[in-house]
Amino acid sequence: MEKIVSLCKRRGFIFQSSEIYGGINGFWDYGPLGAELKRNIKDLWWSDMIRQRDDVVGLEATIIMSPQIWKASGHVDTFADLMVECPVTNKRYRADQIEPQSGKVYSFTGAQWKTHHAPESWGPIGQPFSVLVRKGEHSEKAKKVAKEYYLRRFAAGVRYPDESLPPALAGVDLASGGGVPVWKPGDPPLEIELLGESISDVADSTLFSPDSGARLNKPRPFNLMFKTFIGASEPAEEAYLRPETAQAIFAQFKNVLETSRQKIPFGIAQVGKAFRNEVTPRNFTFRSREFEQMELEFFIKPDEVVEAICGKVASVAEAFGVPPSGGPEPAKAGTPNPQPSTLNPQPNWGWEAWHKYWVAERIAFYEGIGLPRTTLVEYWQKPEELAHYARATVDILYKFPFSKRDEKGELTGEELEGVAARGDFDLSQHERFSGKPMGVFDEELRAAWGKLDEAKKAGLSKRYHDARLKYLTKMGVEQAKAEKEAKEDADGLAKGQYIPHVIEPSAGVDRLILALICNAYSEVTETDDKGKTETRVMLKFHPRVAPIKVAVLPLLKNKPELVRKAQEVRDLLRPWMNVFYDDGGSIGRRYARQDEAGTPFCVTIDFDTLGEKPELKDTVTMRYRDDGKQERLAIGELLNWLLPNIR
Ligand code: ATP
Repeated sequence: MEKIVSLCKRRGFIFQSSEIYGGINGFWDYGPLGAELKRNIKDLWWSDMIRQRDDVVGLEATIIMSPQIWKASGHVDTFADLMVECPVTNKRYRADQIEPQSGKVYSFTGAQWKTHHAPESWGPIGQPFSVLVRKGEHSEKAKKVAKEYYLRRFAAGVRYPDESLPPALAGVDLASGGGVPVWKPGDPPLEIELLGESISDVADSTLFSPDSGARLNKPRPFNLMFKTFIGASEPAEEAYLRPETAQAIFAQFKNVLETSRQKIPFGIAQVGKAFRNEVTPRNFTFRSREFEQMELEFFIKPDEVVEAICGKVASVAEAFGVPPSGGPEPAKAGTPNPQPSTLNPQPNWGWEAWHKYWVAERIAFYEGIGLPRTTLVEYWQKPEELAHYARATVDILYKFPFSKRDEKGELTGEELEGVAARGDFDLSQHERFSGKPMGVFDEELRAAWGKLDEAKKAGLSKRYHDARLKYLTKMGVEQAKAEKEAKEDADGLAKGQYIPHVIEPSAGVDRLILALICNAYSEVTETDDKGKTETRVMLKFHPRVAPIKVAVLPLLKNKPELVRKAQEVRDLLRPWMNVFYDDGGSIGRRYARQDEAGTPFCVTIDFDTLGEKPELKDTVTMRYRDDGKQERLAIGELLNWLLPNIR
């Protein structure tokens, strides 16, 4: 990772935000090459998800929205990480990210402070405290950290026991402060004496600070939303920077449905900034505080509706014609996932088939931009990991160099994207909070319902009713009201009404950029004619994502004919792709610079181009990044050759 981070800075992919002011933790800027890479990724996603399909449309919503949205979505109440704080360094950590530690724990029942000015004075600090000392660390560390802790308690004015009094201090009149003069800054240094030491062994504990070893404070929830204020009125109206792009899609669902001539099933997609006040931003851009998301909400008919219309919901095996792989059980070897090219959505697909379809589509997207399947992991969340409204969630992981390793030493991968089956939770929440109906009218359902026999109607109504009731009671709606609403919802089926369910593939732009850079990074060692070896870096980006598609290089910069011809070639290609013109330095050096930037193709204009060998007139050298091979191509064919290779 260190090499990658330094390359990113050196070549202008990613810089620390506000670097000249010492940086700001969790914020990153994209330099010239990074900005191109990012644009390519967002464009490819937009094209793949929207332009190449008939059933998805786009949205570009605001970052600041009504705070009600975040109440309805649950973010105000529950979008929090449990956070722990080191009482010595004040550093904060996410409670679930503390690495287990083993070693000896030095515990103290309390301490007393002393000063040596006349009259000598002292007083108790009664708080118990412990420090973990790992193998190989000196036990003196425990005492040093503990003294620092008590000194801080003292400075904070906490000099008396919070709970019970350590025996060493029994009998001291604490109510009057023990008759002790208070220590002031400028007084002779304060001495801390530790009391009641005991030592014990501990294994795999997450209770101690990874840095100081101090016992961490109790975990407390920390809401990750950034707050801001709207307008000048007092008290100012509080709002939030969006922590995800998805909610705007739900809030605008009806407007989009009514204006886009789409029918369920269809999707709404959005790309944009999201903000989370992460407790511990880390792993370069992987966990940032400001980042970009690419999210699709794909709205589908509830299974009861599919069954009413089609008679039966297709099983996953029926839908794809191959045995289902994945699922809560690990995928069995030899049961390949359905391949997107063979997938043709059908009216009888229920949520399971749609969910699998989107997982397969998204993995295919990653493969199509150069992440090999072997670097990706399809991780099915276990039932206990699922959000309460989710029926299934698949995380698509990439094996980053900083990922954890399993028992076999294999990288386990970190989340690039989550594909969640969210039921009708989101639209239902917005319906309840806004008071605006979020359901749809489906003529096909209304017509089909009339033809069902009574037993079938009753069965489907009951299932729909029970699901709605479960949701409403879980959300705390009072029983009688929940019963009434669930019945109304189930009665709606006969009129062709229902609240759509949703499948949500939600990806991060920045994490994908990092994965692409990690994947592209390679080193080549070459030996020249004189036996000198040199190792240089090459970024083997897929041409679709490469920031620069082609570099145009005149062999010599002091030959006006060469320069003129090269500029002609540059201008020919420019309207179609990002072209880089470079005439500085030896040709070998220029190739190496482009290899490091990840440019897949270099075009060199030489004397043959100008007709030195008449049969080569108006041809150029095309040089390939990955194998260094070169061939001659006619300028007239260049565009037709390049376009399919970069798209
Ligand atoms: P994590 O568990 O890693 O915090 P998450 O499950 O909270 O992620 P989602 O809420 O599902 O993430 O967000 C969807 C996508 O947005 C993630 O898969 C990831 O690519 C991206 N993302 C989320 N948080 C961050 C972040 N702090 N920095 C960069 N990308 C992020």
